[in-house]
Amino acid sequence: CCMHMSQSVFSKIINREIPATIMAETDHIIVIKDINPKASIHFLIIPKKEVRDIQSFEQHDFELGLHMFAMAHYLSKTVPGAEDFRLQINSGAGAGQEVFHLHMHFLAGTFFSI
Ligand code: AMP
Repeated sequence: CCMHMSQSVFSKIINREIPATIMAETDHIIVIKDINPKASIHFLIIPKKEVRDIQSFEQHDFELGLHMFAMAHYLSKTVPGAEDFRLQINSGAGAGQEVFHLHMHFLAGTFFSI
């Protein structure tokens, strides 16, 4: 929270200040449906810790990657039609990142575009 001037949209979702369709939640991660889906299954795997991007990681942040991969594994085992999936992280504005709270796209099913 407190190192930032304002909370990210994802922190507001985590704190239940704005609505989202929450698909899974652990101590470390929340999973929501992407509001503008690029596939028939399009979730966002979001660390509850508000880290801007991978470039901003400190040593103790690398474990977030483990929690994110573990959640992708769980989703693939539990969501019908998500046995095979794509993961994407846009890290930095130059790579297309729009929400500056780290998140990993989980895409499966029918892909609407690349
Ligand atoms: P990017 O930062 O490039 O990974 O893109 C951010 C993603 O977050 C986009 O796919 C948006 O559709 C999605 N998004 C933005 N705001 C929300 C929201 N309030 N609820 C769900 N998904 C969102």
